[in-house]
Amino acid sequence: MKQTKILKVDPQQPEIDKIRQAADFIKSGGLVAFPTETVYGLGADALNTKAILDLFTAKKRPLDNPSIVHVENFEDVTRLTLQVSTTAKELMKKFWPGPLTLVFKRSNIVPEVTAAGLETIAIRMPQHKVALTLIRESRCPIAAPSANIAGKPSPTSAEHVLEDLNGRIDVIIDAGATRIGVESTVLDVSVEPPMLLRPGGVSLEALKDAIDEVQLHPFAVSEKEVAPEKAKSPGMKHKHYAPKAPLILVEGDLSKVMSTIKELIANYWLNDKRVGVLATSETAWAYEADVVKSLGSRRNVEAMASQLFRLLREFDSENVDVIVAEGVPLDGLGLAVMNRLRKASGYNIIKAV
Ligand code: AMP
Ligand code: MG
Repeated sequence: MKQTKILKVDPQQPEIDKIRQAADFIKSGGLVAFPTETVYGLGADALNTKAILDLFTAKKRPLDNPSIVHVENFEDVTRLTLQVSTTAKELMKKFWPGPLTLVFKRSNIVPEVTAAGLETIAIRMPQHKVALTLIRESRCPIAAPSANIAGKPSPTSAEHVLEDLNGRIDVIIDAGATRIGVESTVLDVSVEPPMLLRPGGVSLEALKDAIDEVQLHPFAVSEKEVAPEKAKSPGMKHKHYAPKAPLILVEGDLSKVMSTIKELIANYWLNDKRVGVLATSETAWAYEADVVKSLGSRRNVEAMASQLFRLLREFDSENVDVIVAEGVPLDGLGLAVMNRLRKASGYNIIKAV
């Protein structure tokens, strides 16, 4: 067990001495959890093979699932990649710093383990002062997957990181809750037209506004599990975002969703099960269950996205036997919320008709 140091910093004006303390750990091959605008990341020097192996171990992440590499300048993108297309340049100009990860063909300075054996590398420039200052002070690109134990909901606060990784990592930089609350959008720009691999903080609508054409990987928008050999992004194959209790997702027309959920609750109660419901502010009042939590208004998908992982984690301490979740609208960040809920359910989805 390591002693995990917690450094509280101001999200707007991070204290430079504290960031330098954290950067010293990164420089010497250590592991530092830090906030980004999406979720908390667990950072290690992307060019240090040993540090990256330790990162996989601390997170219990399968070695075939590479991390996103975080940069704070454009020269690092050039160093880490073979080729940056005109489309990629436009996207970086428009969305960086921000929640858009781009997949490029990688250069040979990228260690095999960082790339998890792939020919490509996923890169983004986060829009968070703490993250950008940490990368700058560390003087290296930082590989940072979400700072949770693999398979669990991603962390949107330092407390979530502590729950999962206390004693397994060197530092947690605590700058409060993250703003967006779901991970970045992953777009493969090593192919033409670019392909959406994971919906996230930049909406599909915004991408389509910026570039002529976006291909959709079936997994990114799927309601069903896609065969592992079709997974274009390794993360597609792995279990993810799952609370302790099994989660059932009910999708469809809202009034039918509500009546289906009520039937499910009645059935579980007959079998003496404790039921949790993940609802919205428009519908939460209508359910009688052991625990009812609301993501917020269905008309504000951004706010729902920011609450999702926190609420999924909260169910873990409610001792429910099952969680039933309402589907949410698919527009804007709703696509990312539904992608996470579908994965959290292990594709246990009921179509309410
Ligand atoms: P996380 O670090 O937990 O936010 O997950 C990062 C996501 O990016 C995972 O789904 C990875 O599979 C995906 N990813 C990382 N590198 C690549 C790559 N080179 N090509 C495609 N997907 C990638
Ligand atoms: Mg993750």
